[in-house]
Amino acid sequence: ETQKETLGFQTEVKQLLQLMIYSLYSNKEIFLRELISNASDAADKLRFEGLSKPDLFEGDAELKIRISFDKDAKTITLEDNGIGMSREDAITHLGTIAKSGTADFLKSLSGDQKKDSHLIGQFGVGFYSAFIVADKVDVFSRRAGLPAAEGVHWASRGEGEFEVATIDKPERGTRVVLHLKSGEDEFADGWRLRNIVKKYSDHIALPIELPKQNFGDDEDNPTAVEWETVNRASALWTRPRSEVKDNEYQEFYKHVAHDFEDPLSWSHNKVEGKLEYTSLLYVPSHAPFDLYHRDAPKGLKLYVQRVFIMDQADEFLPLYLRFIKGVVDSNDLSLNVSREILQKDPVIDSMKSALTKRVLDMLEKLAKQEPEQYKGFWKAFGQVLKEGPAEDFANRERIAGLLRFASTRDDSGDQGVALADYVGRMQEGQDKLYYLTGESHTQVKSSPHLEIFRKKGIEVLLLTDRIDEWLMGYLTDFDGKPFVDVARGDLDLGKLDTEEERQAQDEVAKAKEGLIERLKAVLGEQVAEVRVSHRLTDSPAVLAIGEQDLGLQMRQILEASGQ
Ligand code: ADP
Ligand code: MG
Repeated sequence: ETQKETLGFQTEVKQLLQLMIYSLYSNKEIFLRELISNASDAADKLRFEGLSKPDLFEGDAELKIRISFDKDAKTITLEDNGIGMSREDAITHLGTIAKSGTADFLKSLSGDQKKDSHLIGQFGVGFYSAFIVADKVDVFSRRAGLPAAEGVHWASRGEGEFEVATIDKPERGTRVVLHLKSGEDEFADGWRLRNIVKKYSDHIALPIELPKQNFGDDEDNPTAVEWETVNRASALWTRPRSEVKDNEYQEFYKHVAHDFEDPLSWSHNKVEGKLEYTSLLYVPSHAPFDLYHRDAPKGLKLYVQRVFIMDQADEFLPLYLRFIKGVVDSNDLSLNVSREILQKDPVIDSMKSALTKRVLDMLEKLAKQEPEQYKGFWKAFGQVLKEGPAEDFANRERIAGLLRFASTRDDSGDQGVALADYVGRMQEGQDKLYYLTGESHTQVKSSPHLEIFRKKGIEVLLLTDRIDEWLMGYLTDFDGKPFVDVARGDLDLGKLDTEEERQAQDEVAKAKEGLIERLKAVLGEQVAEVRVSHRLTDSPAVLAIGEQDLGLQMRQILEASGQ
């Protein structure tokens, strides 16, 4: 070993390590899944780079993962012949967390391990999970294409620092050696490892090999290790739907999404005909902490004829569905497709619109069949879905159907009212959907604008999210009925007012003409108009916004941005 140096983990890594060891303690065995997942990613990357640089395979194109163990030494070793890491790669990838926003997120934690540990699932803490069972981890690696002398040995006890040294490593790829903590040696066992692989990693497309069982009984020839593949080793999405079990779909999701929690729902489809592709799309059960970061990962994993091409191919779904995870495997694209090509290829446009419909189908189904789960979905991703009507005009009616709002129906402020429910409850003669926007639920629910609606028992949607006013600029109607902002212009209740009410209103308006003139004179330029209103029952006056004017929320947003 040469050029040895000791380096400190990034602060975030230290925090995360502690939290993870605490929170995943009851589910230790997932360390294996995470390390296998990384080996599989490394194989995907090599296959992809190998398309244009076949030399990278160094004459060994049979990619696989081997897992061995030593009961006496209490070690488990995972070896892959994937892309490998250079010394620099090891320092950055195994010493820092690249996700932007991690530091802020960690700062926001409460410090209460129990509470915080629920949040850990939001990270792809993959590699570090090795420290749940190991008190020392050695990584030996060499990146494909580098000379044998440029291998790296990374070692750490997971306590704040790690060592790196340059080593000779003739075989390309990565070997991870876990030195098990005392009490964790049960993992250095063939049956145990086999079971864990079957349970979590059966879907991995690469062969995962373990020494053939009963090896060791052969006292005469202890060095001849025979390997056998213990997983199914075929890409999960290529299998017929009827043959894939729910837990296999769930484990595959965790691998693809780098998530620790089960997805809410998924949709697996094979399309044949003019275009041929398979898609497997998932709705996560929680929002990642970086959902609103510009550079947060988004998009699908793209394969072309089963060969991994890229992560985060974001050309296949609109932005308002950026939380969807999964894979798309195309038979029509070329293996050397690039992001630039993706952006121009008309094939992508038709795939995008078909995949968008798939997602909308899946969400509609979830809303209908699992309303409780849909609530969770709405809480996590509703704000993002609200970007939909503006971005995707063609699907806006379907998107509108998926939106949930608070309303005057109850006092809770819960966003649980679907527009279809609202329409179903409309009064005789009501032909519009009424809504009111504002800063907070407390503020809008006591707005004088609602008085007349309360009196007549007409439901009003209460919109208090920042994005709502902007949303309503694009959501002009639903089910053929227009939306009406109850704070705007001259409120016309149409058929909801009886003939007598109308007459009475006209008489009042006439009688108050004098008052109106005086008010106009006093208020002068501060108002555009003074009118007799019929929307109030208790309050004497209310400020209304002109029909064409910007709403208050929009004004505040624009003012805040200096416009
Ligand atoms: P993630 O898989 O979500 O990126 P991990 O913590 O699991 O996060 O891994 C961190 C990084 O370390 C990987 O992105 C990869 O760059 C590198 N890495 C880990 N294991 C391997 C491996 N077996 N071969 C090559 N690179 C690896
Ligand atoms: Mg990983």
